[in-house]
Amino acid sequence: MKIEIITTGDEIMSGVTLDTNFSWAAEKLTGFGFILGFHTSVGDDEQAMIEALAIAQGRSQAVIVSGGLGPTPDDLTASVSSKFFNAPLELSDEALEMIRKRFKEQGRELLEINKKQAYMPQGSHVLKNYWGTAPGFRCEKGGVVFFFLPGVPKEFKSMIEEYVIPELDRRDIGRKKYHSRIVRTFGLRESEVAERLKGIEREDARIGYRPRFPEIHIRVSGYGDTEEKAEKLVSGIIDEIVLRLNDYVFSTDDERLEEVIGKLLLEKNLTLAIAESCTGGLLAHRVSNISGSSNYFERGVVSYSNQSKVEVLGVAKGLIESFGAVSKEVVEAMAQGVRRLAKTEIGVSISGIAGPAGGTPEKPVGTVFIGISHEKKGEKSQRFQFKGTREEIKLIASEVALDWIRKFVLNYV
Ligand code: ATP
Repeated sequence: MKIEIITTGDEIMSGVTLDTNFSWAAEKLTGFGFILGFHTSVGDDEQAMIEALAIAQGRSQAVIVSGGLGPTPDDLTASVSSKFFNAPLELSDEALEMIRKRFKEQGRELLEINKKQAYMPQGSHVLKNYWGTAPGFRCEKGGVVFFFLPGVPKEFKSMIEEYVIPELDRRDIGRKKYHSRIVRTFGLRESEVAERLKGIEREDARIGYRPRFPEIHIRVSGYGDTEEKAEKLVSGIIDEIVLRLNDYVFSTDDERLEEVIGKLLLEKNLTLAIAESCTGGLLAHRVSNISGSSNYFERGVVSYSNQSKVEVLGVAKGLIESFGAVSKEVVEAMAQGVRRLAKTEIGVSISGIAGPAGGTPEKPVGTVFIGISHEKKGEKSQRFQFKGTREEIKLIASEVALDWIRKFVLNYV
């Protein structure tokens, strides 16, 4: 049961006019749960229009045609449809009356040329146009319903709402139940995600990739005869995604990473303290964006200067002098220091060079150390090399730290 939209006009084919009728109608119909099968565009060319109608008739159950209903010689839709349906053009009294009324209301004189718009293929059903002079019409051929609508966007849109949607609804054409969910991943590039998900597509489901730096989100949409079927289909695909992407998936329900770690910390009854240098409080900001975070987030310290690392976190001065502030030794001491200060189970720290200045050959811009400290498991840290602007490096460093907390808590025993 497919729906097809044919937009017509040389303006569209030459690129002069953007085909907004299509995008608007597609969004509207999809929103109502209808599924579009095809979209075709043709110029003001009789042969091309007839071909497009014939192809549409062969593969769709409902066809919506936009444009070409005006009074000028390049408006061919009525004559083309008359040939296609093999039904002579007939003056519709109803349509003529409508046009006459419209002209009268506007105080305009009805010209002979305007009467052309009241002609439509014999047997058509007139569709009133409340915003313009060109009435639309509806016909049927071989069990396929055709809607011919004017191209002027305001008129086209109101007629889609007024006639097309109710008629498709009544005939139950092209409508399926729809369900969609978003899976959030971090740590793989879009192409790597796509590579791992190769072959996961199904005819009744769509997989869409949405890069949201530094994450890749995957929208999974499924269609079914019932809501339950659509939901089940989507769940099945998501299970398969999790199987293939494993730990890179942090939410199957469009949750933020900080939301996910909040739930995990609560679940395991763990508390967190943060010490940040190059991220300037971004990690603490993200953690505290979650309502209820006071239940697990004790404090965040922005220890930007070496002095503050020593004074506030108790990092040994000698460590900074020997290894530098951006080092494994210092970042681990920061995590331990903030954990002890806050008396939490977990301490997390970040120290790095966000750039664009401050890099050295050994520690270029983008070098970031992330550390974690646990009261029983001790300290651990890792060196990362990020790329990007200052803001991007800060964001990705906070993301990696959050993801690290997630993995630490997930595997916590
Ligand atoms: P009219 O009675 O006004 O002549 P019509 O049915 O003949 O209506 P067209 O002549 O095809 O419609 O188009 C009228 C105007 O509507 C075009 O000049 C164009 O600006 C706009 N239009 C037509 N088709 C589209 C489309 N697919 N998307 C956006 N705008 C369109």
